[in-house]
Amino acid sequence: MRGLLLVVSGPSGVGKSTIIEEMLAGVRTGRECVFSVSMTTRPPREGEIEGVNYRFVTRERFQRGIENGELLEYAEYAGNYYGTPAPPVFQAMERGKCVILDIELKGVLQVKKHMPEAVTVYIRPPDWDELAKRLRGRGTENEALVVERLEIARRDFEHIGSFDYVITNGDVKTAALELANIVDS
Ligand code: ADP
Ligand code: 5GP
Repeated sequence: MRGLLLVVSGPSGVGKSTIIEEMLAGVRTGRECVFSVSMTTRPPREGEIEGVNYRFVTRERFQRGIENGELLEYAEYAGNYYGTPAPPVFQAMERGKCVILDIELKGVLQVKKHMPEAVTVYIRPPDWDELAKRLRGRGTENEALVVERLEIARRDFEHIGSFDYVITNGDVKTAALELANIVDS
């Protein structure tokens, strides 16, 4: 396939969505980039739009997606299921586009196994205190879930060496430019 599969991962609250949105809206890339809208059983947050941020589905619908082979990868994360619908990814790649996935570590490892040509990027925070501040500052999870997400982040950080690129998200615009440079290289 002619396209590029760009897999973005990193701790919850580090700013993955923010950087991807900034790049898609504000930085020109040689290749047209599209965001892969995942399916999830997590309830929508305030402001999230069905079909734009996620496809919000029931556990039954998600299970059917797994059984029908609709998903390129999927994982359970902090009590909910998340997965990448495969057809839109393949269609966009056949058209030569860059498809951006924002997924957690288990999903990254599945994608790498099946599509070794995928380019993986880990977004890291300037430090752990700043990560906790951003996650709490976002105000979307209760304290127990914040703690769970930070624990997952610490654990997953050990796999940073498996990624092709690492970007530190200190400043959003700089990080978005770095992501665009990866697309163009
Ligand atoms: P993720 O998608 O990685 O879970 P978000 O994009 O939702 O993270 O960002 C988490 C919070 O951190 C949001 O409130 C966002 O506005 C903020 N944020 C993102 N990048 C930065 C940055 N470079 N500096 C300060 N705050 C940031
Ligand atoms: P959130 O609930 O904060 O939107 O996402 C939680 C975690 O799930 C993040 O690490 C995000 O990257 C990941 N995620 C989102 N969509 C998918 C997906 O389709 N597959 C996998 N494996 N992880 C996903």
